[in-house]
Amino acid sequence: MIDLRSDTVTRPTAEMREAMANAEVGDDVWGDDPTVAAFEAEVADRVGKSAGLFLPSGTQSNLVALMTHCHRGEEFIAGRFSHIFRDEGGGAAALGGIVAQPVDHEPDGTLALATLTDSIKGDDIHHARTRLLALENTFRGRVIPLAYQKSATTLAHDHGLSTHLDGARLFNAAVATGSSIEALGQGFDSVSLCFSKGLGAPAGSVLVGEEGFIARARRWRKTLGGGMRQVGILAAGCQHALSHHVDRLAVDHAHAQRLAEGLAEIDEIEVQGCYTNMVFLALPASHCPVLSEALESRGILMKAAPRTRLVTHLDVTGDDIRYVVQAMKEYFRQPVH
Ligand SMILES: *Cc1c(COP(=O)(O)O)cnc(C)c1O
Repeated sequence: MIDLRSDTVTRPTAEMREAMANAEVGDDVWGDDPTVAAFEAEVADRVGKSAGLFLPSGTQSNLVALMTHCHRGEEFIAGRFSHIFRDEGGGAAALGGIVAQPVDHEPDGTLALATLTDSIKGDDIHHARTRLLALENTFRGRVIPLAYQKSATTLAHDHGLSTHLDGARLFNAAVATGSSIEALGQGFDSVSLCFSKGLGAPAGSVLVGEEGFIARARRWRKTLGGGMRQVGILAAGCQHALSHHVDRLAVDHAHAQRLAEGLAEIDEIEVQGCYTNMVFLALPASHCPVLSEALESRGILMKAAPRTRLVTHLDVTGDDIRYVVQAMKEYFRQPVH
């Protein structure tokens, strides 16, 4: 199957499985797993922070970051469509007693500085204390500009807030812009990175920050049930991804461009944007249920909805892209050339 539903669907390669099979392991809750320790240190170093923490998922990494930055009854500011606010099951409230203050995005995905300033509450016992600004890069595939990140994190720090970056796809931003991961993480007190998206590992995220912060985060990870034992097996898969799958993200971005260009030739499809490894489409609603089935019968998985996105990744080849464009053209009876 050619699976364009998400970049989470990648399967570990044979080389990655071999690295996992050969990993030296120990009990990581006791701090005995050398593979995890080395991986945490390498990721922290790459982002220019002093410590790292390996977690099973990006959701847990973000939640641990929220609970480490904010006490109960305190508040974080995040975009209305950010993953940390919208797509993590309300964990901040349910498990952390933390209030979310969602704010609108600008068309480019950023949060206007004036909006941020207005959203930071003054020192008044009526209000939840505003404690944290959480940004996301890439946001819906869009690269958030470095200059903006610098202004927003400076503004937050000037108001006494901490800053967190949900960098689930920060490596896509790095490859797309040529900026280093360190440059992209500057200004943030904590950064969360995922290895199970386009990087192709089966699971694993790393939260990085300064040592004291990560020591406190490590306690919350245990509280939330994220302390894992011989988990060097997973960290070895992530380490393999970090060593071998970062530069190739450029291929995914080129594939997304080719997919967008091909689909733009079909009258019934409106390509609304193509950012890093994501193509955003408007499809005629009447076709959606039939289109899904028609494509699935040709070995293509995508969410056919009036507004949808296709995501390229490690398991999608250039031939797959040509095949998908051709299958779509055939479905809509457009000339194939
Ligand atoms: C995928 C993702 C996460 C984490 O998701 P998990 O499925 O819990 O690993 C966090 N933030 C963003 C922006 C994501 O895309």
